[in-house]
Amino acid sequence: MDLKSRIRTVPDFPKPGIGFKDITTLLADPAAFAECLRLVDDGFPPSCYDVVLGIEARGFIFGAALAHAHAKAFAPARKPGKLPWKTIRRSYELEYGSDSLEVHADACAPGQRALVVDDLLATGGTLAACLELVRELGAEPAGAVCVVELDFLDGRRRVEALGVPLLTLVHYGAEEE
Ligand code: AMP
Repeated sequence: MDLKSRIRTVPDFPKPGIGFKDITTLLADPAAFAECLRLVDDGFPPSCYDVVLGIEARGFIFGAALAHAHAKAFAPARKPGKLPWKTIRRSYELEYGSDSLEVHADACAPGQRALVVDDLLATGGTLAACLELVRELGAEPAGAVCVVELDFLDGRRRVEALGVPLLTLVHYGAEEE
């Protein structure tokens, strides 16, 4: 299936020069959504992880669907101040400024294998921060999954530098695509 054709690029959102990859059009197509989950299963069979960590906000959609399909635990990684209990935090650099992610201190336990899921890989800062949080909790990142990869931003290098296998489903080679 041509998943790329189900993704809408919105020019100049949220600011000029950004081509926003809108996955709501993919989610609106049940066969395309199911195909995404099937491709993740091919790359990371459920036997290779114990818990799914979804990154706010669109990583919740794919991550929770995957966890539910395989009766795995799901845990959210969120922007600061959103999680109500004890958290650990990682900050990461953005093009301008920095951002942070938090997980609950019991999001995953030592010895567990976590699959980290987001909608899109750009510079890799978000995913790398989440993988570091998994390790800080004593758990092992089993892998990282993004539906979309912006190849030209080279986030893959950052994730693979952490020694974590990465699966992405749709590639964009240039900002204007
Ligand atoms: P990064 O940390 O640079 O890899 O950015 C990845 C995060 O930012 C993901 O959570 C994405 O949802 C979001 N993001 C970055 N660039 C885009 C884009 N062009 N379209 C949609 N989401 C994006």
